[in-house]
Amino acid sequence: MSSRRPSRIVLLGAPGAGKGTVALGMVSLFGAPHLSSGDMLRAAVAAGNELGERVKGHMAAGQFVPDALILEVIRERVQHRDCRNDAGGVRYLLDGFPRTLVQAEAFAVDSKLAPQLVVHLKVNSDVIVGRLTGRRTCPNCGASFHVAFAPPAKTDACDHCGSGLIVRPDDHEDTIRRRLTAYELQTAPLIDYYADLLIEIDGGQGRDQVLADVIASLKPWDGETPVGANL
Ligand SMILES: [Zn+2]
Repeated sequence: MSSRRPSRIVLLGAPGAGKGTVALGMVSLFGAPHLSSGDMLRAAVAAGNELGERVKGHMAAGQFVPDALILEVIRERVQHRDCRNDAGGVRYLLDGFPRTLVQAEAFAVDSKLAPQLVVHLKVNSDVIVGRLTGRRTCPNCGASFHVAFAPPAKTDACDHCGSGLIVRPDDHEDTIRRRLTAYELQTAPLIDYYADLLIEIDGGQGRDQVLADVIASLKPWDGETPVGANL
């Protein structure tokens, strides 16, 4: 690994591994913006420019957005000031891309854009199934609860509007297991591909401990740079 503090970090982890939560915690500590591929694509469409129109064409047709186009969206997004570190280089905390080996190889072509560090949140499938099947959603106002971690005050009723809570089709166990298998097939090769950049974190722990482990794993680069200054 390089001795320079990494400023381009990719978060890898299965759906339900807690990438979003870890990203939020890291953003507030290190300042690099959290870029999620889904959010970036939606923002590009909302911006309505030529790039966004092309993304919209694929999404409206129910197609996957081609890898080259996703890379264009990322390249455009990192032009924004929040993605610039003090030295004028690119900084980001990226999740949702790359998902496949082909994407990772395309991403590696530009050495000023490619990740310098990959944080892998490892979580056992049964833990993820437990997390996701516990979710309850309000069909009326969209509020989200969890039977173990964020239970509603009244069982199966929304705290905000009183509607009956439901389990979304996406949160049924068979659906989750199918998504996890697909993730393993597509993304497991990335673990080997990024072996030299990889930090493995036990994502099955509580949220605070996961974040503490991520921060501890970044310690080797603290050096003279205070944490939070200019990752
Ligand atoms: Zn509600």
